[in-house]
Amino acid sequence: MAMSENRTEIASLGEFGLIEHLTRNIELQNASTIVGVGDDAAVIDHFGKQTVVSTDLLLEGIHFDLMYTPLKHLGYKSIVVNLSDIYAMNATPTQVTLSLGISNRFSLEALDEFYEGVYAACDKYGVDLVGGDTASSMRGFVISVTAIGEVVPGKFVRRSTARKGDLICCTGDLGASYIGLIILEREKKIFLESPQVKADLEGEKYVIGRLLKPEARKDQIESFEQAGVVPTAMMDISDGLSSEILHICHDSNLGCVIYEEKIPIAEATRLAAFKFELDPTACALSGGEDYELLFTIAQEDYDKLLLNEQVSVIGHMTEAEKGKKIITKGGNSFDITAQGWNAFGAR
Ligand code: ADP
Ligand code: MG
Repeated sequence: MAMSENRTEIASLGEFGLIEHLTRNIELQNASTIVGVGDDAAVIDHFGKQTVVSTDLLLEGIHFDLMYTPLKHLGYKSIVVNLSDIYAMNATPTQVTLSLGISNRFSLEALDEFYEGVYAACDKYGVDLVGGDTASSMRGFVISVTAIGEVVPGKFVRRSTARKGDLICCTGDLGASYIGLIILEREKKIFLESPQVKADLEGEKYVIGRLLKPEARKDQIESFEQAGVVPTAMMDISDGLSSEILHICHDSNLGCVIYEEKIPIAEATRLAAFKFELDPTACALSGGEDYELLFTIAQEDYDKLLLNEQVSVIGHMTEAEKGKKIITKGGNSFDITAQGWNAFGAR
């Protein structure tokens, strides 16, 4: 764990001193935040908009490994993955709460590093940290984030409302984060066996960056608004493309066809995959933690999204009887199976 030289024991501040220290620089950014940190509860007024809420729990050793996760990145990612869920509803996140279980292994300096990442994400995405809870943990670092957002009434987008013939689209590129994880896990193993070997990860910067510092697709929600498009169904890709597309099919009671050649995969991801003898398509289908958006649109909206190079059309929705199929580059058709990783845990 990267820590600065100074070590201040958290216990030396006391609980209130600690919370005050961690939240001392908060400047509220949203008019909707009526009361932030410091009272028994926060007060939020979305002025007639609907409120969207999502929460996540992250456990050391299950969801993250402090051996190769810098605390600042972890703080950043803890916020971003929650915001991704709010964007996936076609909503705008406005507030977060952050609750921590901290073991005495952590110094105040380590916690400060974590919060640096938290505040960097809050700044970038324009959300206010309005509360949380702080407790000591016997073992391991525990992080729980709740994100709150707003949406014009009725404009939220569910997973269950795709229609037959809709185009299936996704943002960005897929599979990188999974390879980043494979690489860091391998480096960890090498380090534990022979600590003197120095890791050379220069060529793998992109994929490792995608794992350690993911971004949420705020930009896509904004371009829907600008283009005047409301997706018919949407979710974020956290467990791998195949698992997510099956959710949309199941919840919308439809089938789908996707085309392997249309799945967006970055060149850096392909190179890293080949180096590790992995199939890049399999990484995109069954990897995870991409935090891209998967959505369906009516065919007549296709032109409105044409100019957006961040969007790939990868297939279309069919009637349920046609099944859930992927057509490979060689022209073969296979059933899509859910090999998506169940929230990091299955790894
Ligand atoms: P209570 O005893 O009522 O739970 P706390 O002393 O835990 O109150 O919290 C006081 C204030 O500090 C509340 O506004 C709470 O939301 C906020 N808070 C507590 N822990 C954190 C944290 N880790 N990050 C941000 N705000 C926090
Ligand atoms: Mg409390």
